[in-house]
Parts: sequence; structure tokens; C-alpha cells
Amino acid sequence: MITVDNLVMRFGGFTAVNGASLTIREGSITGLIGPNGAGKTTLFNCIAGVLKPTSGTVTMSGEAITGLAPHQLFHKGLLRTFQIAHEFSSLSVRENLMMVPADQSGETLWNTWTRRRRIAAEERANMKKADEVLEFLTIDHLADEKAGALSGGQKKLLELGRTMMVDARIVFLDEVGAGVNRTLLNTIGDAILRLNRERGYTFCMIEHDMDFIARLCDPVICMAEGGVLAEGSIAEIKADPQVIEAYLGT
Ligand code: ADP
Repeated sequence: MITVDNLVMRFGGFTAVNGASLTIREGSITGLIGPNGAGKTTLFNCIAGVLKPTSGTVTMSGEAITGLAPHQLFHKGLLRTFQIAHEFSSLSVRENLMMVPADQSGETLWNTWTRRRRIAAEERANMKKADEVLEFLTIDHLADEKAGALSGGQKKLLELGRTMMVDARIVFLDEVGAGVNRTLLNTIGDAILRLNRERGYTFCMIEHDMDFIARLCDPVICMAEGGVLAEGSIAEIKADPQVIEAYLGT
């Protein structure tokens, strides 16, 4: 579904991603691991349009998407989760979900003035969708809570929920399990598996928790020093001498 070919990202004289090539198979939950500073987040940001790579190409289902802006990728169903922005923390959980489609489709203030009636109908549909998403994620009891009052793990669920408000095809998750307690981690893992199996989402996730990766990811790609070091099943990756030396052994 996604092919990254020889991607390079330089910041001034520093090369963060150094000729990385990889593929993300449609329908997979692909894990991305590696030591801090390996270039995982930079690679993510290059694929998701947050950064324009210095060189190299990214294609989605055969179509070149290198350097497209996040909202253009959003329309193709490629999403990257983001932390709930500070300014939205005083809005309710439901409102945070409801604003995703309008927010991301570049809705302008002018539109909201000129198309009031249509917007009212869209808003009702959006609210229904938001409530379905909350139910799917088993956090419907939090619908009216302020987003800022959620625990770290609940916020991660809400971030995942935001991707369900539109027709996502591939979702990039950056350390969705970081700092989350075991119970909520299981809930997040369940949601990811269900989205993958029942709704056909493809995932690519940066993660450090090896148990979480073992439960969800196949294949796993290990990056080091800006490049791809190894790729395989979790068992193959754990047994790979290069991976052990660069990452697991430390
Ligand atoms: P990882 O996610 O694997 O920990 P990152 O992609 O965050 O790695 O970072 C890779 C390297 O690139 C790091 O050495 C980091 O300091 C550097 N880096 C990341 N973003 C920038 C930036 N905007 N400007 C300069 N250096 C950066």
C-alpha cells in the first residue's frame, strides 16, 4: 500500500533519515522499532506530509504522494494521529470527534456562514458518528467529559477515535502505548485489532513496548541510524543479531 524508496531527510548538515526503503502491506499492522534517534518519527513525518523529504519517493497504491500536504493525504485516507491540541482540551470528547471532518477538510468560516442548513444536517450526522465511535472504543461514558480531563490512555483512545470519523485507509500511530497503563493498553490494542480486522484499516506504528508489538504487529521493521536495519516477524526480529546489537541488547 505504501512504498518508501530511498528516502533522505536532512536538517541542515544533519541526516536524520538516510536512504530508507520499505513497504507497508495493505491490511497489515506494521511495527516500526529502533533506538532513539533512529529516524522513525522523521520518516513518519515525511510519509504523512508533515515534512518534505530532501529526496526519495513515497507512493500509495502506486500513486506518487511524496511531499503532499497532510490535508491532501487525509483525503486519500492516510492519517497520522496527533496529540489532542491544547486549545481543544476544554471541548468535550464528543466535540473533539465531531470537529475532525470539518477541521481536516479545510472548512472555512465563510462556508459556515453561507451553508447553515446543510451544516446543521452534517452536524447531526457527525454527532451520530461520534457516538458510534465512542461506543466502539468503549468510552461512551466519557462523551461529555472535557478532553483535557482524560487520562493519558483515554486521550490515546480519543486520538484513535479521531481517525474513525473519516474513511481512513492507513493510520500512522506514534507511540500510542507510551505511558499508558496495562488495562487501557489492552483496550487500545483491542481497538487497533478490531479496526484492522473489521474495518480493513492498515496501520503503521512506532512502538517501544515489545509485548504490545508482539501482540499486534506483523511484520516489524527495525530502523537504526536513519536506515532500515531488518524486517520480519517479531520472532525473526528478536533473533536478528543486528537488531540485538543496535536496539534490543541495549
Ligand atoms: P526517533 O523517532 O527514531 O527517535 P527522530 O526521527 O525523532 O528519531 O530523530 C532522528 C534524528 O533527527 C535525531 O538525532 C533528532 O535529533 C534529529 N531531528 C529530528 N527532527 C529534527 C529537526 N527538526 N531538526 C534537527 N534535527 C532533527
